[in-house]
Amino acid sequence: MLTETPARDDAHQRALDWIAAGPKEIWIDGKWQQARSGKFIDSINPETEEKLTAISDADASDIDRAVMAARKAFEAPSWSAMTPHERTNCLLRIANIVEANAAELAVLESLDNGMPLWYSKAGVNAVVNQFRYYAGWPTKMFGATNPSTPDIFNYTLREPIGVCGQIIAWNVPLVMASMKIANALACGNTVVLKPAELASFTTLRLAELIGEADIPAGVVNIVTGLGAGAGAAIASHPGIDKIAFTGSTAVGKHIMRAAADTMKKVTLELGGKSPNIIFPDADIDKALEFAVRSFCGNSGQVCSASTRVLVHQDLHDEIAARVADMASAYKVGSPFDPETKLGPLVSGTQRDRVMGYIEAGIADGATLSFGGSRLGGKGYFVQPTVFSNVDNKSKIAQEEIFGPVVTIIPFKDEADAIQKANDTTYGLAGAVWSRDFSRATRVAKAIKAGRIFINSYGDADPVMAFGGYKQSGLGREYGQESIDMYTQTKSVWARL
Ligand code: NAD
Repeated sequence: MLTETPARDDAHQRALDWIAAGPKEIWIDGKWQQARSGKFIDSINPETEEKLTAISDADASDIDRAVMAARKAFEAPSWSAMTPHERTNCLLRIANIVEANAAELAVLESLDNGMPLWYSKAGVNAVVNQFRYYAGWPTKMFGATNPSTPDIFNYTLREPIGVCGQIIAWNVPLVMASMKIANALACGNTVVLKPAELASFTTLRLAELIGEADIPAGVVNIVTGLGAGAGAAIASHPGIDKIAFTGSTAVGKHIMRAAADTMKKVTLELGGKSPNIIFPDADIDKALEFAVRSFCGNSGQVCSASTRVLVHQDLHDEIAARVADMASAYKVGSPFDPETKLGPLVSGTQRDRVMGYIEAGIADGATLSFGGSRLGGKGYFVQPTVFSNVDNKSKIAQEEIFGPVVTIIPFKDEADAIQKANDTTYGLAGAVWSRDFSRATRVAKAIKAGRIFINSYGDADPVMAFGGYKQSGLGREYGQESIDMYTQTKSVWARL
């Protein structure tokens, strides 16, 4: 059911004041600057479909300016000669300033993207933790000494890559922007980041906060705009040494091709269609609680969501009925109603795309166990939707929907569950639920995906590497692996 409207507080007011201050410029070299095109893109509130303000539609000439600022900052001793301890302090200062402004950032995110306020608050907490996690790395990026002949001293140095172009999606904007910026800065790089045109507010506000955190100008540059304009200019820019992209697999392939000409280092965090395997000996209550939470979280606009729930055929009907029942109790409504579990989808286009998949599921003969409809006159609301008896080969089981839609797929035995789990072009995440730890670890090893949960789903911690197998991506974010993605190894061979 659709719930009622917002309660306001001081943080809400500060967010509204920031929005009301006028159309947003781009952040280059430590200050707001006008985009050369003079063009803007409307920012629409997904709850009300009303215009909030507008963001700049930057073009290739703006990316040139941002890259020049980032290059100058990268070479300047104020950044390049900074000690690891000072770099740690920079990241801690950003963490502290984000923490001090957490409530306002959370409101901005919910207004811009439509996620429930409790969800955006959890995201801002994660952001603070990300900056603190990466603050620990500058003093721990070790090289190696390698045994050779007695007259040789061979050692390695880990060095920054240079100017990093970063392009992100709209589903958890601040979390994504922060993980990329924190990772790059910890390794001594500088950044030109483009948020998604559908949700840029918190990344722009983060730029301002970083400006207040005494980080040298030009180290972080935030340029808004369309994918085909500002995004494409970043992907092909000869002055950018590395590109890190989060978004769809289709655009990821394009980025990889565009980056080839200048041989940029590339990391790609792409789409998913993650299997969540529930064996009969599992704690079924807990498994279903996590499964529903995962496919409904952020209205299903999560790359690693549990979108294929694989259940033993003997339990299928009972589990389908229970999931439908649980989903029906999840409230859909205003992001600012504390009871809301699902806010609106980010845009009318995304809502229509999701509705198209729901129609395809019905046409393909899957059982619609719950949902399937739009809600409310205004706003991009869609019911949580449960399909059961789904054929793993069907469109709704194979393609990423990026909305609150789950497919429940029966399996015969362990081998069948593994085969179906892996019968996808994606490989981002997955889970196995079983009280038999031998089976759980065996199946976890057999699933071809970058992040597997055992008796859990969707937990996030920066210590845990994240990234895709197959067409879900290239490289890793978080964890020690992410340090490798933002540094390069220099091997020094000294004849003694
Ligand atoms: P998208 O690929 O359409 O856009 C992502 C970003 O790329 C945006 O900033 C967009 O402006 C930019 N872009 C678009 N075309 C471009 C081009 N030709 N050159 C350069 N940049 C371009 O994706 P989306 O709709 O914003 O986000 C949803 C997708 O993101 C889903 O597929 C989801 O799975 C994926 N995603 C993945 C992760 C992950 O970590 N693996 C996390 C979140 C979202």
